[in-house]
Amino acid sequence: MRIQYSMVKIGVLGFQGDVQEHITSLRSVLQPSGGTVTVIRKAEDLDGISGLVIPGGESTTIFKLISMYGIYDKIVRMGKSGLPIMGTCAGLIILSSKTNDERVSGMGLLNVEILRNAYGRQIDSFIDSIDIEGIGKFPAVFIRAPVISKAGDVEVMAYYRDNPVMVRNGNVLGLTFHPELTGDMRVHEYFIHMAERGVVPVEERKVVR
Ligand code: GLN
Repeated sequence: MRIQYSMVKIGVLGFQGDVQEHITSLRSVLQPSGGTVTVIRKAEDLDGISGLVIPGGESTTIFKLISMYGIYDKIVRMGKSGLPIMGTCAGLIILSSKTNDERVSGMGLLNVEILRNAYGRQIDSFIDSIDIEGIGKFPAVFIRAPVISKAGDVEVMAYYRDNPVMVRNGNVLGLTFHPELTGDMRVHEYFIHMAERGVVPVEERKVVR
């Protein structure tokens, strides 16, 4: 039986980065069953969404713009109250608790510490297969990816060479790679399923389902 997503509306933070690629991926899953995707550029745009995607791109730029447009604090509040949020690459850096770059101050929605651009220049972009808990083998595209140097109170869903590359804390999901560039929709499906279950009450946030 096909899952019905007619009530699901996912917002994609639309300032910079892989905005269109996420919209296309989410639409391909949602549209057949009536779910929708919307671009978020103003604080009001966040009202009424069932989930939020923060795309990869340049975290210093995304951080500057969401702070300037007054969206940063609202996302923190909504994340703390249980809004499902997925951050990929730069998006994960924004969700983290600590970064090694003073220009990007993480929201603290995922208890991880980040080293930006930590794979070094010569291999700053590559693709390799990883094994994601609950999803299986997945082609992970790393583009000037950050490294999670410390993972606190989160569930690690995938590793690459002993480094966590996909983590979840209840309603918040973070990836160091780019599922929107693969044509493989399983990570987006997983997130849409989280959003479809609705806003997770605060007291249940640490429960992984
Ligand atoms: N290197 C980027 C940053 O630190 C992230 C890379 C990406 O999102 N593809 O902002």
